[in-house]
Amino acid sequence: MNSPDTAVICSAKGCRAAAVWVLAWNNPKLHTPERRKTWLACEEHREHLSNFLDLRGFLKDVVTLEEWEASPHH
Ligand SMILES: [Zn+2]
Repeated sequence: MNSPDTAVICSAKGCRAAAVWVLAWNNPKLHTPERRKTWLACEEHREHLSNFLDLRGFLKDVVTLEEWEASPHH
């Protein structure tokens, strides 16, 4: 988890920061309701990425990476 080889990187374009947040989303036109796509975000990009998804009505959940990995739904 702490090794650079396995570091989880932010999904924002051009960002190489370690991800801290998981944004779970679903596009009802493409995905069944239970399906979750995920974006990863660093502290800096969490708001930007979640706003992007929220504006489109896609955003379902924002949790820390730690919580996400501890949860059974993926
Ligand atoms: Zn970032």
